[in-house]
Amino acid sequence: MAGIYIHIPFCRQACYYCDFHFSTSGRLRTEMITSIIAETALRAHYLSNEPIETIYFGGGTPSLLTANEIQRILDTIQAKFNIVSSPEITLEANPDDLHKTYLQDLKKLGVNRLSIGIQSFFEKDLKLLHRIHDRDQALNCVKDARDAGFDNLNLDLIYAMPHGTDAEWAENLRQMMQLAPTHLSAYALTIEESTVFGRWYQKGKLRPVDEDKAADQLEMLMDVTAQHGYEHYEISNFCQPGYESKHNSSYWLQKKYLGLGPGAHSYNGTERHFNVSNNPKYVKQLSADLLACEGEKLTDNDRINEYLMTRLRTKWGIDLRRMGKDLHFDLMKNYGDYINHLQLQGHLFINEENITLTRSGKMIADEITEHLFQM
Ligand code: SF4
Repeated sequence: MAGIYIHIPFCRQACYYCDFHFSTSGRLRTEMITSIIAETALRAHYLSNEPIETIYFGGGTPSLLTANEIQRILDTIQAKFNIVSSPEITLEANPDDLHKTYLQDLKKLGVNRLSIGIQSFFEKDLKLLHRIHDRDQALNCVKDARDAGFDNLNLDLIYAMPHGTDAEWAENLRQMMQLAPTHLSAYALTIEESTVFGRWYQKGKLRPVDEDKAADQLEMLMDVTAQHGYEHYEISNFCQPGYESKHNSSYWLQKKYLGLGPGAHSYNGTERHFNVSNNPKYVKQLSADLLACEGEKLTDNDRINEYLMTRLRTKWGIDLRRMGKDLHFDLMKNYGDYINHLQLQGHLFINEENITLTRSGKMIADEITEHLFQM
């Protein structure tokens, strides 16, 4: 089984923390849709005819597309790939785009999962982040999405907000639990160099939250979601039973995927491909029926590192037998002392075949992965 990701590289306005690939100019929009459709056809064999079980529109802001544009892309995917009978089809959306008729149109197209960027229920946070929506739009769109028949909703939240308090984070979590989405993604705010926040940081105008405070807020997140029956199945992702994101899980479980659109990545089991993160260059290449990507064959160390980095963060953990069989790497032989030490400190569960993080291990997941990395 494999997945298809479509990157829609347009946003109405730039959020101050965001370093994804997007443009706030809609200048090449028509050409972009044509180019993504052309790339879909050109890469029809990338996944060796494996059944496609997930399709994911990410961005950027896919909810800027009209229903007709989404339909044209889906029709091409349907015509060129072998799709399972009930694929998970997710569309990332901003609250201000989700009008009632648009939601009904998405439903008719077969979109069955929405991932909505709420980020905070406080207006002051939304303003600081330079989000385009307000609190009422966030609350209304969840209701409207459910009225239109979307019962599988992911909602995004951001914690460790500059100037944010623990009490405000508790209130955000309370309101989120009231909405009871099937899936919650919650990320600590990071300050990336190429963003407005990055520039403010350089000038001393913005200070990141200290690590202890971010850790406290992660603890609150784990407590509240557990009390409400959510499973913490990946460091930043929580779901009601049975509602894991199939698409994102496929990345963490090393399944193959094809990424279409500028900035998208693909993985065919042995190589990674990276599409150019530049809208005019992408469109120029595709309008000449040429791909706009570069590839790299993964080395043995790359494959080991990717496996460690993705799997350790999940409930599935590291499968020691699989590491030995597929990656020819005996983790216990190389790092037995370190791993046993972590277990004694209560950071890991170990059984014969599997290593998973405990709650305290999740707090230091990056540190553990870094220690295990193969250079
Ligand atoms: S809407 Fe999403 S992709 Fe666009 S700037 Fe904001 S966070 Fe980034």
